[in-house]
Amino acid sequence: MSIVDEFLQANNAYAAHFQKGDLPLPPARKVAVLACMDARLDPARILGLEEGDAHIIRNAGGRAADALRSLVISEQLLGTNTIVILHHTDCGMLTFTDDTIHEKVKKELSADADHIAFLPFKDLEQSVRDDIAFLRSSPLIPQSIEIRGFIYDVRTGKLQAVE
Ligand SMILES: [Zn+2]
Repeated sequence: MSIVDEFLQANNAYAAHFQKGDLPLPPARKVAVLACMDARLDPARILGLEEGDAHIIRNAGGRAADALRSLVISEQLLGTNTIVILHHTDCGMLTFTDDTIHEKVKKELSADADHIAFLPFKDLEQSVRDDIAFLRSSPLIPQSIEIRGFIYDVRTGKLQAVE
């Protein structure tokens, strides 16, 4: 069975017991979670979120510059007032540089991605501080929005606050 067939089978089971079809569009807990796309990190489970509770925005590294569009929509149109940034130990973003991936794209695809900042980082805690600072200094994110940053440990399942 292909992975997509497996998905369809799983969805049949999910929909058979589905009872949350009446949830409102705005997130009930007024929070947007910005998390890395890492497969070991499940924001809903880590944070105890249910359907309808929160926006979960994911990208490589959980980087703020890559999520600004979604965060503005979340806050301005859908009423969220808190941003939680979730980076994690053993992140793939610690393993390469922009030069690395620019060169790889040239070699593998004969294409040019030099105009894309892939936003890797060398220091995990600093990456969270940088993303908080990026959002704090953005005119598109009001000062009234609470912004908190955390590192998730993929070995223990625990969160560590980054101040
Ligand atoms: Zn990651």
